[in-house]
Amino acid sequence: LTSGLESAWNKLKGEEVLTKENIVEPMRDIRRALLEADVSLPVVRRFVQAVSEQAVGVGVIRGVKPDQQLVKIVSEELVKLMGGEVSELSFAKSSPTVILLAGLQGVGKTTVSAKLALYLKKQGKSCMLIAGDVYRPAAIDQLVILGKQVDVPVYTAGTDVKPAEIARQGLQEAKKKNVDVVIMDTAGRLQIDRTMMDELKDVKRTLNPTEVLLVVDAMTGQEAAALVTTFNLEIGITGAILTKLDGDSRGGAALSVREVSGKPIKLVGRGERMEDLEPFYPDRMAGRILGMGDVLSFVEKAQEVMKQEDAEDLQQKIMDAKFDFNDFLKQTRAVAQMGSMSRVLGMIPGMGKVTPAQIREAEKSLQIMEGMIEVMTPEEREKPELLAESPARRKRIAQESGKTEQQVSQLVAQLFQMRVRMKNLMGVMQGGSVPALSN
Ligand code: GDP
Ligand code: MG
Repeated sequence: LTSGLESAWNKLKGEEVLTKENIVEPMRDIRRALLEADVSLPVVRRFVQAVSEQAVGVGVIRGVKPDQQLVKIVSEELVKLMGGEVSELSFAKSSPTVILLAGLQGVGKTTVSAKLALYLKKQGKSCMLIAGDVYRPAAIDQLVILGKQVDVPVYTAGTDVKPAEIARQGLQEAKKKNVDVVIMDTAGRLQIDRTMMDELKDVKRTLNPTEVLLVVDAMTGQEAAALVTTFNLEIGITGAILTKLDGDSRGGAALSVREVSGKPIKLVGRGERMEDLEPFYPDRMAGRILGMGDVLSFVEKAQEVMKQEDAEDLQQKIMDAKFDFNDFLKQTRAVAQMGSMSRVLGMIPGMGKVTPAQIREAEKSLQIMEGMIEVMTPEEREKPELLAESPARRKRIAQESGKTEQQVSQLVAQLFQMRVRMKNLMGVMQGGSVPALSN
């Protein structure tokens, strides 16, 4: 999607103003890019229509090039398409809040149940899980194990009890225990079938849940949007959780769900670990799709690992463009600790278009970078300018780290590039406007 969009901007290079004529080609690229990303056709049509209408209406803005204008319009429309604002979870006025999870088999319901409990626990809420998948004993064991992992009690009643009855007992138990939030995991099928829907309806009637969230697999593309629509018509849902976003490079599901079903994506799963669940931010997703990486997620993830004051210091440094080699090392190491290399790379601006095949390569280059940074003097690490100005210093670093002078120069250039891009992006994320493209 990203590269398809880039070719759209490129077609506007050298133009003075957006016109009905000169947006035809770029709009065709945008359309194609969206379809290739598995966004559903009606959504693509409406999107292209909305962007075209705005594009020809903007006129000339001094100092803003037409390609930048189009990026801005596309970015804003993407955010709108995905619902604009973050859609928060709702909580019941009187505890417990009940969250019912539904979805097909293998999409990540059981994993999400435990992830969500951990997520809410971090917000200071006490949780309880209910094991409602009565079709596979292994599914109950799985939830019990995950419950232990996140230290949340799990209510089980075996496989001989009907899901609605388990729900009733579980809810009773939760009230006795005075927990804030009850999360019920349910059984999924390979496909939608009558029995599953009827069971879910029974469970829903019993629980009277505050949230009914459909868990969908991002890798199923526009199929995800169709499922959300169907489940909503059948049982009535309050939103969706998109899982396996870490494996989805196309973005079709994220783009289609809201527009097709009318229901918001509330949370996204980005990995198999219990920590890998976060709110769905339409603006960050749009930034990611536009290939600008996701600085806020990057900083936020790092905050969890680093001490608070360190992190604030880092944000300030990014804003002041003083991000140095120490930060660079700390960040890459901290983030590498937290998740797979692929995620880290996806979050670094300018590195957003990494394919799994390139990951090993990238890991190697990270090692090379570390090798060079390790032989820098403390002063050089803090003031990358020293290296930019002095070939002699770069030569020394090359010799001591066993790398070439060209590699050292590249590293220095990369840091400066990163400073600029991160700063621009922080501006976008905080101010809501799109930066000038730097190339
Ligand atoms: P369920 O059948 O809907 O309950 O699905 P499970 O929770 O058992 O998950 C099925 C598989 O998907 C498991 O191997 C999970 O580890 C994996 N999984 C779940 N969520 C994610 C995610 O966000 N990213 C990745 N990569 N894997 C996930
Ligand atoms: Mg399950």
